[in-house]
Amino acid sequence: MTSIFSGGLSRYALYGFAIAVIAVLMATVAAVMLSGKALTLANLYAAQASNPMLMALDLMPFIFALWAQGLAAGFSDEKAGARSKKTDTEQSEKLALKAEARRLEQEDTLTGLANRAHFLQQLDASLRDAELNRTRVGVIVLDLDGFSEVNDQFGAATGDRVLKSVARRLSNATENTGSILARLGGNSFGLAIDALQSTQALEDLAQRMRDVLVPPCTLDKLSLNLAASVGGAVYPDNATDSFGLVNAADGAMQHAKAGGGGFELVQTAIPVEDAEMHSLSAELRTAIEQDQLVLYLQPLIDVQADEVHGVEALVRWQHPRRGFLPPGEFIPRAERAGLMNELSKWVLRRALEYNAALRKQGWSIGVSVNLSARSLLDPDFPDLLADLLATYEVPSEVLTIEITEDTLMSDQRRTMDVVTRVSNMGIHISIDDFGTGYSQLTYLKRLPASEIKIDRSFVTDMLESDTDMAIVKATIELGHALGLRAVAEGIEYENQSVKLRELGCDIIQGYYMGRPMPYDKLCEWLAEWQLHHQPEAMAVGESARGSY
Ligand code: C2E
Ligand code: CA
Ligand code: CA
Repeated sequence: MTSIFSGGLSRYALYGFAIAVIAVLMATVAAVMLSGKALTLANLYAAQASNPMLMALDLMPFIFALWAQGLAAGFSDEKAGARSKKTDTEQSEKLALKAEARRLEQEDTLTGLANRAHFLQQLDASLRDAELNRTRVGVIVLDLDGFSEVNDQFGAATGDRVLKSVARRLSNATENTGSILARLGGNSFGLAIDALQSTQALEDLAQRMRDVLVPPCTLDKLSLNLAASVGGAVYPDNATDSFGLVNAADGAMQHAKAGGGGFELVQTAIPVEDAEMHSLSAELRTAIEQDQLVLYLQPLIDVQADEVHGVEALVRWQHPRRGFLPPGEFIPRAERAGLMNELSKWVLRRALEYNAALRKQGWSIGVSVNLSARSLLDPDFPDLLADLLATYEVPSEVLTIEITEDTLMSDQRRTMDVVTRVSNMGIHISIDDFGTGYSQLTYLKRLPASEIKIDRSFVTDMLESDTDMAIVKATIELGHALGLRAVAEGIEYENQSVKLRELGCDIIQGYYMGRPMPYDKLCEWLAEWQLHHQPEAMAVGESARGSY
């Protein structure tokens, strides 16, 4: 009962009530008139009171009202029911559409396999797990050989059927391996294998994928022989992100294809056991940010004038756990991790800061900084140099950039460009480790360098080996003939320095004169040096110190 009134009194109930009241009134009036009495209120009342039919009729308005109210409630329930049914179907249609859209986003429409975008997403998730669990992930890229000929000869529709057939076969070959198979685009397929146990497992899967393609593909009357080239790459050995990993596997596949097909695994430049590589690169970034690096300085002596020519800046890493690391232990890693630009910037800043401080003490000497190939190929590098020189107010001719001979020779056209720009700014260029690379004299002649640095390996044995002595002598002469300063490094004994002076070498560097040392130690070393070499300069003032 309460439920039929739950929506309030309906207008139908009011209409029912009013109609029934009118009917009762009319019946009462009719009863009075039929009895022949006057139509007065008293007679109407009397007719009502004496006639049981009329009394029963009095109940009608209430019965009508109730009935209409009940009907109205029923209507609205039905309506509401219909409405909610409609929303339910709309909702499920929407969900189905959404699921379909998601499927289309993730799926390759032709083969029904995952598409490239979805594959990379799934691979990213696998890599995150692998990083947490310290497991490996394998990626295989398979590319059909000669597929464009199938398309050209038999049409794209046939090509599509071949691709569908290949997808089915690969799917069968790789099911239950816990791997994700995808069509990466065109005639190229990808497979990602979680928790890879060994490279052998990767090779086995690659072989299985190639094997299933061996039976000819029969389409109507056509029978096509299929073959594919396959490449494999492994996380974290070859790359650490999904994009890089697929690229690495793709590169190995291209290499296999160029070699006539088959399977190839990326040749790892980084040893597999070097899992520390990762963390060390990350730590190196922190080291640069948190100033864990230390810049050591080693004196360069003008052996003819007997004065301090400058210092070479040599970086070291004061590692919080591993201790003091020489550059050989982290520079190659920094190169591989793409951190060399950051590191070079740090070294340059610190070197110029020290040089400016020495200048304030009256030491007008030069500073040499080693530069890797990577930084040299950065087209913004000359601008960065100009900014730093301006910041520390150091004249450009004070700075020498040391570049190893093999770096200079490896990409001659590009290095020539940057070297020329740097040299035009007044900065000196030094060819480091000279004699270990294969310099072409014609190139050397064009290179706007200021000095050549004879490699330590020749200096070390020059007094014992006639060949080394001949090389050192010839290099000094070659340098002079090209208008370059000759610098010798690795001088550990006095007789080596005496001999080099006789040979006309301009600058010498080595443990005999001074080891690489931190800035404070260098200040002490400079004071000591002055005491022994130019005591008169101390007396007259500080002006005669250094060659810049
Ligand atoms: P390099 O440029 O040939 O530097 C000279 C190396 O010879 C330094 O080794 C120096 O300590 C060492 N040395 C100097 N005099 C003597 C000596 O009389 N006897 C012997 N046995 N060794 C001597 P270090 O500091 O270990 O640096 C090794 C290499 O690391 C450098 O060779 C350079 O190629 C690289 N390096 C150092 N600092 C940097 C840097 O800031 N940037 C870049 N790109 N490379 C750097
Ligand atoms: Ca050097
Ligand atoms: Ca050197």
